[in-house]
Amino acid sequence: MDKQDKQDKLDKAVFLDRDGVINELVYSKERNEYEPPHNTEDVKLIEGVFDSLKRLTGSNYRLFIVSNQPDFAKGKTSLKNLQNVNDKIRDLMEVRGIVFDGYYYCFHHPDGVIKEYSIDCECRKPKPFFILNAIKKYNLDKNNSWMAGDRDTDIGCGKNSGLKTILIDYPGSENYRVNSNPDFTVKNLTEAADVILKAI
Ligand SMILES: [Mg+2]
Ligand SMILES: [Zn+2]
Repeated sequence: MDKQDKQDKLDKAVFLDRDGVINELVYSKERNEYEPPHNTEDVKLIEGVFDSLKRLTGSNYRLFIVSNQPDFAKGKTSLKNLQNVNDKIRDLMEVRGIVFDGYYYCFHHPDGVIKEYSIDCECRKPKPFFILNAIKKYNLDKNNSWMAGDRDTDIGCGKNSGLKTILIDYPGSENYRVNSNPDFTVKNLTEAADVILKAI
């Protein structure tokens, strides 16, 4: 097998941030900010998400979620609640036949209030830890793989991992988009899938 044959065997992948990409953020009156859902009743998927994900898997992209979930570490909700939300989103995907090869969640925060989770961990975006592990484990083709998310930290994570990057202009997280210099900027996952599929 020469080098080119080997290259052809590599799988390509799309790594996705979750909140503001797959599911809507939830407005908290109490804290006057948009947050990830803390309860399963608050899980609302963004329009067009199933179709976009199906188009990507239909073109042989593996899918991964890479998500920072620091709200337990920050004392805003329980770890159980966060896990229930994660399970619900996975169930909604599986019912529609959409399988992610990995759901990577970081529950840490460097300035949290729950001691064991308030650390400067290795897995929090923009660190590339989860993506680099997945690239190795699934033998992924970096040159044809992507990271998409609605914050600068998502773009940083994609760049730190050597992937192409797409910033999603989700309303409610605009304060987290300042200067990440992504390869592409789009409105939502539907448009992100358009960019990715056009680039083949
Ligand atoms: Mg997000
Ligand atoms: Zn972490």
